[in-house]
Amino acid sequence: MNSTPERIELSIIVPVYNESPNIDTLFNRILSVLNELNLTYEIICVDDGSRDNTLMSLMNYHLRYSSIKVISLSRNFGKEIALSAGLDYAQGKAIIPIDADLQDPPELIGELIAKWREGYDIVYCKRRSRQGETWLKQLTADVFYRLISGISPIPIPRDTGDFRLLDQRVVTALKQMPERNRFMKGLFAWVGFKQTEILYDRSPRYKGITKWNYWKLWNFALDGITSFSLVPLKVWSYLGLILSLLAFIYGSFLILRTLILGIDVPGYASLMVTILFLGGVQLISLGIIGEYLGRVYQEVKQRPLYLVRELYGLSPNRIPISS
Ligand code: UDP
Ligand code: MG
Repeated sequence: MNSTPERIELSIIVPVYNESPNIDTLFNRILSVLNELNLTYEIICVDDGSRDNTLMSLMNYHLRYSSIKVISLSRNFGKEIALSAGLDYAQGKAIIPIDADLQDPPELIGELIAKWREGYDIVYCKRRSRQGETWLKQLTADVFYRLISGISPIPIPRDTGDFRLLDQRVVTALKQMPERNRFMKGLFAWVGFKQTEILYDRSPRYKGITKWNYWKLWNFALDGITSFSLVPLKVWSYLGLILSLLAFIYGSFLILRTLILGIDVPGYASLMVTILFLGGVQLISLGIIGEYLGRVYQEVKQRPLYLVRELYGLSPNRIPISS
């Protein structure tokens, strides 16, 4: 379907990184869903510096279907940034990011559009179940969601991925957020707007392996927490206050005891414990300041969020987030 920019109703954004075994099935399923919906659409694939022949097969699809467009990034920037690049170029009145590994069923798109037409600006897809994930991943995800909802002033809905429908006005709002550290779940929640959810069963990855490992997930969690909460930064003043108070009480007790009972040398154990404990606490607090400071430094450098190597089917004069 070849339509003028103004008339595109739906933009699908697919971040792709080394997904060549999934691409045929992905387009099969998406195209058959979209062709039944009877609306104008574009599918923007953001190739996030893939090292297999993902880009080649995306380009083949672009040649066959003009509604399939490709952004090729200059290197691997990570999913969140690939998604942001897609949002920058999307022209639809409604925008749906979807994973390339078919964990997000394209068959839900119709349902999302129906809700959107009812007047909602954001329609989440909430996972009813997580198939194909180990108990450890489920447990860590659970802990993360509990922690972040406990300390973030903005409620971040749990068990929702990036698979959701966004109205154009939400995307415009997202583009006004200049931060480099893009914790999408949080940003989506931060913008507000009229939101609703639909439930779905998340299927296991179709082919290939996940690009996440626990180290990446840990850093992702840190990004999320530091960009949506100042609690870890502020807690140290209170802890310090409590510790000083305790130290004062204990100190007074020691002075009094020395005055009354005279000098009493033994006490190696308590000395060691106090020094080690306080040293640990100080290092943790310094580390946390470092986490925030490092992120401030990253933001201050004002580097572009991503670099585009080549565009297929898209015009380069879009205004990227970072400008
Ligand atoms: N992805 C990406 N850049 C990356 C890693 C992943 O664009 O550096 C894409 C990937 O191709 C897929 C989506 O992000 O379409 C989700 O990745 P994955 O399935 O590995 O994550 P999970 O579903 O396990 O959270
Ligand atoms: Mg996946």
